[in-house]
Amino acid sequence: MFSRILIANRGEIALRIVRACRELGVHSVVAYSQADRHTLAVEMADDAICIGPAASKESYLKIDRLIAAAELFDVDAIHPGYGFLAENAHFAEVCESCKIKFIGPRPAAIRAMGDKAEARKTMMAAKVPVVPGSKDVIREEKEALKIAHEMGYPVIIKAVAGGGGKGMRVAHNDPSLIQSFHSARREAEMAFGNGDVYIEKYIDRPRHIEFQILADEHGNVIHLGERDCSLQRRHQKLVEEAPSPIMDEKLRKRMGEAAIKAAKAVKYSSVGTIEFLLSADRNFYFMEMNTRIQVEHPVTEMITGIDLVKEQIRVAAGEKLRIGQSNVQFRGHAIEVRINAENWTKNFSPCPGKITGYITPGGPGVRIDSHAYTGYVIPPNYDSMIGKLICHGSDREEALRRCRRALDEFRIEGVSTTIDFARLLLDREDIVRGEYNTSYIEKMLEAGLPILAEKAGHGGGKG
Ligand code: ADP
Repeated sequence: MFSRILIANRGEIALRIVRACRELGVHSVVAYSQADRHTLAVEMADDAICIGPAASKESYLKIDRLIAAAELFDVDAIHPGYGFLAENAHFAEVCESCKIKFIGPRPAAIRAMGDKAEARKTMMAAKVPVVPGSKDVIREEKEALKIAHEMGYPVIIKAVAGGGGKGMRVAHNDPSLIQSFHSARREAEMAFGNGDVYIEKYIDRPRHIEFQILADEHGNVIHLGERDCSLQRRHQKLVEEAPSPIMDEKLRKRMGEAAIKAAKAVKYSSVGTIEFLLSADRNFYFMEMNTRIQVEHPVTEMITGIDLVKEQIRVAAGEKLRIGQSNVQFRGHAIEVRINAENWTKNFSPCPGKITGYITPGGPGVRIDSHAYTGYVIPPNYDSMIGKLICHGSDREEALRRCRRALDEFRIEGVSTTIDFARLLLDREDIVRGEYNTSYIEKMLEAGLPILAEKAGHGGGKG
């Protein structure tokens, strides 16, 4: 096992990794930006070092500073968390050449899955079903029109370097395709420095079902079941649950096997996620692989009893998986609600600032992963997620009731949050029945935001 790990991240995930290190008896060092000096990860780590100003380009994305920090503290490994450099193959290579273990897959696997167009080709070769679409990157308007006419509208234009819903546009006809083609390319160029896009058939009202992979460096690959992440706004997940309310044993087996095949095709090691779209007629298609720990990993932890971050560190240290596929057992049901500092009644606009009051829920089956506390000032420089509420129950009904109860107990003052929105969502009949898809939240918002806001008892959110 490693003796010292540098955590190249911030927020709740930095704290999550500090906790895993502590339980493993590993010395943790958090690399933080000037804006994150007063955060819980910095407070709770064994050591911490400031690596630059607030702007992530000058700190969390600055490879030379991270390596200097790693050398200074003489760490054996770097944990990249999610976002920032977590899926940067170059960073993984730099770590490797400095004899520092990158806690994640090999650079070649990151690269193979990082380019979505390449990943599609690899999956086709491995006989994993992919969403019908273009074989390659599309560079010309004419080509885009040709593919769209072949497949039929609607289509979705996606950035090969995409992530976080950026560089993605749906088109329903020729004029909107032409416009979307250019705007997706522009947005992707801005966000990722790579404007390449490709085109997929837009699947009508699908569910987003993803499989958790756990793989060691000795060729052992297992899956830990699925998460249903269909509750999204603008392609960003808001609520996730495991197992999926629409899953059955047969489909889980088929999708799980496809997920393992996908991971093996790139000789994957570490934790990772294979994302699928599941159509209404229960066909599934590979969408992408995330080669890192995911925000929503706790729901899998809650139903399997497996600590994914500790397992991730163990396999990076060269250990073999301690369980096989047949040992994986699911217990009960778990739901995660992302808590964002946003004013949901004003188009979910970010709401940084000082948290003046903070009381977290507790009791049976309740877990909070958050770096927030009373007096914490949310910086405007990063994403708006300030924590996650995860509730476990013996079945879905209990998990849902527990989640509603916990949301009622949750008090955050000083800034607006999405707590009330999540509370309304979990009350809805469709959600209770488990009947929803990736468009559900958008439709719900289109239908009646003023009514929803009134129900929640305010016109402008807290704070
Ligand atoms: P990102 O990497 O930016 O998160 P993904 O490829 O994971 O992008 O897609 C995010 C979401 O976009 C999916 O969960 C789904 O809701 C929607 N989506 C992506 N591709 C399609 C498609 N072909 N048809 C319908 N919806 C899609």
